[in-house]
Amino acid sequence: MQYISTRGKAPALGFEDTMLSGLARDGGLYVPETIPTLSADDIRAMHGLTYEEIAFRVMRPFVGDAFTDEVFADLIAKAYAGFGHDARAPLVQLGNGHFLLELFHGPTLAFKDFAMQLIGQMFQEALSRSGKRVTIVGATSGDTGSAAIEAFRGLDAVDVFILYPHGRVSEVQRRQMTTPVESNVHALALDGTFDDCQARLKDMFNHFEFRDAVKLAGVNSINWGRVLAQVVYYFSSAVSLGAPDRKVSFTVPTGNYGDIFAGYIAKRMGLPIDRLVVATNQNDILHRCLTTGGYVTDSVTPSISPSMDIQVSSNFERALFDAYNRDGNAVAQLMDELKAGGFHVSQGAMQVLREHYDSGRVSEDETLAMIAHAHAHMGELLCPHSAIGVQVAEAQRDPNVPMITLATAHPAKFPDAVEKASGIRPPLPERMADLFDREERVTRVPNDLDQLESLIKDRIAS
Ligand SMILES: *Cc1c(COP(=O)(O)O)cnc(C)c1O
Repeated sequence: MQYISTRGKAPALGFEDTMLSGLARDGGLYVPETIPTLSADDIRAMHGLTYEEIAFRVMRPFVGDAFTDEVFADLIAKAYAGFGHDARAPLVQLGNGHFLLELFHGPTLAFKDFAMQLIGQMFQEALSRSGKRVTIVGATSGDTGSAAIEAFRGLDAVDVFILYPHGRVSEVQRRQMTTPVESNVHALALDGTFDDCQARLKDMFNHFEFRDAVKLAGVNSINWGRVLAQVVYYFSSAVSLGAPDRKVSFTVPTGNYGDIFAGYIAKRMGLPIDRLVVATNQNDILHRCLTTGGYVTDSVTPSISPSMDIQVSSNFERALFDAYNRDGNAVAQLMDELKAGGFHVSQGAMQVLREHYDSGRVSEDETLAMIAHAHAHMGELLCPHSAIGVQVAEAQRDPNVPMITLATAHPAKFPDAVEKASGIRPPLPERMADLFDREERVTRVPNDLDQLESLIKDRIAS
């Protein structure tokens, strides 16, 4: 299995190099050259299997010869062993035909753990085989960073640096990043927004001298391994509702477009998905683009769903690549226009996007109202991101097709908003109850590429 860049100018790579490098050298994102498919019988055969067994069958064709069957099955088993629920991704019913996929039972209480725990295992296996060392730098709006630190803390072959926007993550998110004691973990609070963090990260990847000197590796959702791990729960949940013999739809609280794009991959692999619905908060560039075709950046307004406070949605580039019939030059040109403020999606490409995706936007007040409503009438205490998904799903769903809304974080990760809406302050699960007593370790950094690069070089040299 080979992977190609969405901008058409970087060399094709196998799975291991794609995973270890993150961003392609032409600035693009790697996607599989062809998408493997599973037959209706293959999908039917998943009934009754464990999450890990389904994970193996869904991901195996993408991994090629990077791992043997035995090793790959073992990495999957280790990745999910620390989850707080035997089903890993349990499905609960909210109402008639509406289901919630709980993706928050991992070690940092957000869906990011599904991909990051597996990536941690795969990096360790690949690096220990080759004896290489890498420097992981990640940008986070809160959940990616904590999940990455949790997955890589204490590993010999890796230093992990996480850039988060100072003052713009929740206290639980911050403490999950700043309290690990391992010396290979570096939390960096950047003076700026999440988009600034993401932009500096991209700058580092495009500065080849630095990139090669520190052996930079990326684990943001632009990393193909992340997207791949997220394809699995689309299969496991749809199968539990009768796939491939019954269609389902999904609503996905969306920021960087990684999670919803994984749903699109599941569909392309042969899973009968009717609609993929993008749910955004007030930072609604994706909703605006999917309704008008105009992808025009605006400033980010901080919200109670901070993991979706994004104006430049990296993985959308992968969706555009397919919508433009995999024309890398066309995508490269759109990305150039984006640097100057925005672009318009062509009519043909909009038609392709509309075949797969719908979208909706939810205000802050509606989010709070849905948290209260779901608690009173659906038996579920939702985090603000998940509430946005449930709100959009309720407004848009077809009563004849079961809807699965992805619950992307545990309510205890965002206790202030949840308490304000419902009057209930959700407690942290037992295993992390002492989070507020642990000592914090963090470095405040300016939004400046040179200074960031020297800090990283100094730290890994010491
Ligand atoms: C990351 C995140 C999202 C957005 O997911 P994307 O893959 O970036 O679209 C939504 N909700 C929560 C809680 C998250 O951590």
